[in-house]
Amino acid sequence: MFPTKVARAAGTGASVPVECCQVCGHAPLETVLSLGYMPPVNQMVPIGQVPRQQPWFPTDLLYCGKCELVQLGLAVDPVIIFPPEYPYTSGTTRLLRDNFADLCAESGAMLKLTPQDLVIDIGSNDGTLISNFQKAGYRVLGIEPTEVGKIAAGRGIPTLTRYFTPAVAAEVKREHGPARVVTAANCFAHIEDVHSIVEGIIDLLAPNGVFVSESHYLIGLLDTFQYDTVYHEHLRYYSLASLAHLLGMHGLEVFHARPIPSHGGSIRVYAARRGVMPIQPSVARMLAAEPRGDAMRARLKAFRNDVLLSKLRLMSLIRDYKEKGMRICGISAPSRASTLFNYVGLDDGIIDYVCEIAGSLKIGKYMPGTSIPVVEESRLFSDQPEVAIIFSWHIADELAPKLRAKGYRGKLVTPLPVPREL
Ligand SMILES: [Zn+2]
Repeated sequence: MFPTKVARAAGTGASVPVECCQVCGHAPLETVLSLGYMPPVNQMVPIGQVPRQQPWFPTDLLYCGKCELVQLGLAVDPVIIFPPEYPYTSGTTRLLRDNFADLCAESGAMLKLTPQDLVIDIGSNDGTLISNFQKAGYRVLGIEPTEVGKIAAGRGIPTLTRYFTPAVAAEVKREHGPARVVTAANCFAHIEDVHSIVEGIIDLLAPNGVFVSESHYLIGLLDTFQYDTVYHEHLRYYSLASLAHLLGMHGLEVFHARPIPSHGGSIRVYAARRGVMPIQPSVARMLAAEPRGDAMRARLKAFRNDVLLSKLRLMSLIRDYKEKGMRICGISAPSRASTLFNYVGLDDGIIDYVCEIAGSLKIGKYMPGTSIPVVEESRLFSDQPEVAIIFSWHIADELAPKLRAKGYRGKLVTPLPVPREL
């Protein structure tokens, strides 16, 4: 039933090209966009370390004409893209914290959860999502492969430091019983062996259990030219149609879906075993609004052109600043900035440094693929460079007033969706 020749990079210590669809096995896939070669976003070299060779990986987006999935053209061994010192923590932005609180409130009310119910979060990171369910009084367990899981454990959130596999699912179920809710926020598009992950999730779910996933949304990505979210952690870029197809292959039915603001535009999708939950009108409404087949091909072609123009416009803006002798720094170093820096070609001649809030694990390292240092944000206020480009542009509305309140007086610029001064 499930394709067997799908690319598997885990254990290779390297990468494997995606030559047929990761979900349905269809080949050949159609190339949508090529961003060139990119370094892994989470292997940041400490400042001052002697430069050594680093791997760079081809970064292409491919489209499956059969199941509508847009996917990365290369699977990289998780050991390379999720190193143990993985510096991303999800608790750091207000928008994400608010979203996870909303997920807990929405699902608690809709599913009428009770204190006996077990909620399991896959890819639980620093525990930001699951802590909401814990505070609401449910039994909880986080499953997280990286060291960041220890932050959650330190806060008293039960956390298993393991990669999620069907074997781990079986072990968890033996120990804790079946789950009423399994959540996977911003990781369901990352794990390469997606069919065994879904099987593991189904094994964990009680008969009336519900799987809630949050993923970056393909349609929003196309709308706002978010090519910067294309990097090797993100193997798949779901529309509701492609996600529903994947879950349907395993007997799961989507019964509610809605857009959420996370990461510049995501979808929250609720699924259960077929027939268990009444299907809400949101599902048909979202599906009807998505292009498919030739309409999707046309949409992807337009996207490719828009991405190119966006790069040229940003360079044009930067060129004007540099002609005037202005100093340019960056605000925040999210993973997505790595793709933007390397696709546009920003180097330490253009960007003097990138600021992160005190405490960030990225401070003291170079931006991936460059010699641009990441420094503590206080430098921005003492230095007052003429221009600051916000690389977490999807939360620019949250960041800009804070930067002004703290005393930054220069120009604030967003690189996407349209390069412009705020
Ligand atoms: Zn497919």
